[in-house]
Amino acid sequence: MEKNKKIQILQDIIKIDSVNDKETEVAEYLQNLLAEYAIDSELIEYAPNRSSIVAVLEGSRPGKTLGISGHLDVVAAGDEDEWTYPPFAAEIVDGKLYGRGATDMKSGLAALVIAMIEMKENNVDFAGKIKLLGTVGEEVGMYGSKQLVDEGYADDLDGLIIGEPSSIKQIIYAHKGSIQYEIISTGRSAHSSMPELGIDALQQMVDYINISNPKYQALEDSAEHPALGRTINVNTVINGGDQINSVPAKVVLKANARIIPQADNDQFVAAINESLEEVNKSIEGKVELNMLQNNPPVESAQNNDLVESIRKAAGKDIKSISMAGATDASNFGRIDKDFDLAIFGPGELERSHIVDEYVEIDDYLNFIDIYRASYTDYLSH
Ligand SMILES: [Zn+2]
Repeated sequence: MEKNKKIQILQDIIKIDSVNDKETEVAEYLQNLLAEYAIDSELIEYAPNRSSIVAVLEGSRPGKTLGISGHLDVVAAGDEDEWTYPPFAAEIVDGKLYGRGATDMKSGLAALVIAMIEMKENNVDFAGKIKLLGTVGEEVGMYGSKQLVDEGYADDLDGLIIGEPSSIKQIIYAHKGSIQYEIISTGRSAHSSMPELGIDALQQMVDYINISNPKYQALEDSAEHPALGRTINVNTVINGGDQINSVPAKVVLKANARIIPQADNDQFVAAINESLEEVNKSIEGKVELNMLQNNPPVESAQNNDLVESIRKAAGKDIKSISMAGATDASNFGRIDKDFDLAIFGPGELERSHIVDEYVEIDDYLNFIDIYRASYTDYLSH
């Protein structure tokens, strides 16, 4: 494919403002693009205007299935006046393409898809198949990858590249899970001169924190993963009370736990529930859990075959590391099979979600070549 067309494709999909919505427009764009090269695809609707896309390119003989995945959504642009270049204009200045999603991760998505197309265009001989899994809603809820896994689209994966921004310097083979949740304490308001008529939701929350902290600490101390470290919990936001002379009737605590496989999501949720049970025994009001997101950790071998194929294509010194952040790999990791994982894509993680997000055009184009060479090597037998 010509260089200008590769750049145009990235500009076109950045111009679609798929902020936690409208992924169907991106999916349809990719569907039309793939159709130009006679590659069939299927849109999988999650909600109106929100469709994931799956496309398969078959090799000449049986072999492994290599999944290639990117999310179609982006995070909000924030205050557009703060941007030097408008977030959905995809302007190119000094070799940099600016826009929301330029790094996270429409450049990775476009590069994965174009490399797939070039396998066909160049008649590259390979075994097995390349399966595109473009997902909705990764940034909030990871709905698309969950749906694709639940509906069996990921069952046959032997390897999976997720094109999230890692930079060319490193490949991620494992990451922690993440649990985002709220604790809601409900009491009853009363005038603070007569507190005995109320139920103090704030005091209930203090009780919860005091009871739960040692339980989370025990889980943290129970296991340490050599690369991922420990399961940790951080209480991050607290809101409650109405005014200075009223007993607070409602307090909400938000928290985020980061999870390793050896002290896993189920154990952590059990610790929350035990804490709540204990608190609820001794209070008049109630304290409850509202689960927002529950994504497991994912792990493959540090130097798995896919990592090695990428190293052959991109440089033998590339480190393979773990990270704390979560991706769609959390959901894909739930399939009943071990697979080779490589989270590897253009752009730098630090440039995600910020004002004036950009990707270097050369970096983007380079990744297309690296992906194509990696597909070819991984699927050579
Ligand atoms: Zn992302």
